[in-house]
Amino acid sequence: MTNVDLHSHSRVSDGTLSPAELAARAKANGVGLWAMTDHDEVGGIAEAREAAAALDLPFVPGVEISITWSGQTVHIVGLRIDETNRALVDGLAAMRGGREQRAREVAERLASIGVPDAYEGALKYVGNPDLISRTHFARYLMEIGLCETLQEVFSNYLGEGKPGYVPHRWATLQQSVDWIRGAGGIAVIAHPGRYKFSELQFDALFREFKTLGGSAIEVITGSHAVDQYDTYAKIAAKYGFLASRGSDFHGPGESRVDLGALPPLPTSVTPVWHDWNLAY
Ligand code: AMP
Ligand code: MN
Ligand code: MN
Ligand code: MN
Repeated sequence: MTNVDLHSHSRVSDGTLSPAELAARAKANGVGLWAMTDHDEVGGIAEAREAAAALDLPFVPGVEISITWSGQTVHIVGLRIDETNRALVDGLAAMRGGREQRAREVAERLASIGVPDAYEGALKYVGNPDLISRTHFARYLMEIGLCETLQEVFSNYLGEGKPGYVPHRWATLQQSVDWIRGAGGIAVIAHPGRYKFSELQFDALFREFKTLGGSAIEVITGSHAVDQYDTYAKIAAKYGFLASRGSDFHGPGESRVDLGALPPLPTSVTPVWHDWNLAY
């Protein structure tokens, strides 16, 4: 059975490895079908594709789009996208525009609770000036000894409602699905188990996603607790979604789950890659 990993991040968003280093690690870990899915950015795909080809590693161009739905941030993964599609490229560029101002505000809030110069601190970790994210602030807060783990930083400083949190309006669900499908891709709800929705809200999200043309949800992901695998396998069956599997790897020593190091999908679900021609 092919070891499939359809969710990972490079330095082009908030990962720590270059796209080529990520490809090499996927290969070394035995991944046989790999997607790179940087946040709101497709600028690393050409390098990833080239590196994967040199390693004989089947590669899937992807993206993870930040959206706001019912007041919360949700992530929609796009797989098998044409990363040169104009509407996708322009839509993502427009969305990234808000990150700079947001980062300045995060830094102001951190300064007000006694953490100065966080903007400059976060910048040291940024690989793509267009994509400063909370992860970069989190790495800086760890560097200065405020917290030991990323999880701790988000729980105490950068997560929703915490002192360094700045609410932000991302794309809409409809935009994300339209951009992905318009670029020939498949839309997947990332790590559904992470969102704090009521049962009614989840039902509305899954229905709306389906109506808009969404195809799949992540069932096995590094962002799910083990007991959530079964929960979301059942949800996939209930709503007729295909199922995806991805580590959500961001970097060695940082991510809980390494590339390719996840259990297989439950046999009850249909893999999102079931009808793909794997001879890329
Ligand atoms: P942003 O897109 O700037 O809001 O940053 C979101 C990123 O922060 C996510 O993609 C994760 O990489 C990271 N993140 C969010 N919550 C947590 C958490 N609790 N622990 C570790 N990383 C997190
Ligand atoms: Mn991330
Ligand atoms: Mn995500
Ligand atoms: Mn991710």
